[in-house]
Amino acid sequence: MIRKALLVKLHTAVIAGVVFFPIALQAQTQISGEVIQGGLIFGQSQPGSTVTLDGESVLTSADGHFVIGFDRDESGTRELVISSPAQMPETMALTVQARQYDVERVDGLPPRTVTPDPEAAERIKQEAAMVASARRLRDQRIDYLYGFEWPAAGRISGVYGSQRVLNGEPGRPHYGLDIAAPTGDPVYAPAGGIVTLAYDDMYFSGGTLIVDHGQGLSSTFLHLSEILVETGSTVSQGDLIARIGATGRASGPHLDWRMNRRVDPQLLVKGEPAALESASQ
Ligand SMILES: [Zn+2]
Repeated sequence: MIRKALLVKLHTAVIAGVVFFPIALQAQTQISGEVIQGGLIFGQSQPGSTVTLDGESVLTSADGHFVIGFDRDESGTRELVISSPAQMPETMALTVQARQYDVERVDGLPPRTVTPDPEAAERIKQEAAMVASARRLRDQRIDYLYGFEWPAAGRISGVYGSQRVLNGEPGRPHYGLDIAAPTGDPVYAPAGGIVTLAYDDMYFSGGTLIVDHGQGLSSTFLHLSEILVETGSTVSQGDLIARIGATGRASGPHLDWRMNRRVDPQLLVKGEPAALESASQ
């Protein structure tokens, strides 16, 4: 009965004219987050909705939650369409806001990690495949919905998007957020999730841990000195999961936190990571 009434109401609204249409849309799907390079938006649509972005299907939970990320260099306007059995399709135009990125010089890196030995090529390839496979999980969990907290206390020593010059040589952009802190300092789960990779010694990233927060949104933590959880473990927000280190390609101890879909973790947390220290002690 409710569903039928809703249909009638929406049809009436459409027929009555365009003025009512956006008002009806507002009430159906809620979006939070930023449509910006490196940003994420979180959507809540009606249960049973299907969502597409530029015609491609977006994973949506049974109760209507979905998440969309925007690349570092993404530009232009995306068309988001939400359809559900009980309503007219909603269309939203998402215009990606541009950002400016810094050039960042990092010196003092172990030379073999900037110019790998040819013998290391096979190992690097295998490790990249392991990471890709760990990030491939797409399930209906929505652990990300409860928000993100800083995974460590310290000083921000590198930001998302910087064009990097490594030991004087142009490198790829940096997709992580670096928090400098002493080796052994705790790393906490910024949000709940499932551990999809826990590996002690990768060529570039050293101790590497991936936590999937649902629907393919995952955190990766690099250069760890110690990993305290195992692949397949479930973690809750704030759980102690690892310890900071300087393993792999690092010039000093820090946590490199990156998020899959290559978005900027810093857009998900408030203030500075140092605040965590005073708050938790
Ligand atoms: Zn980094």
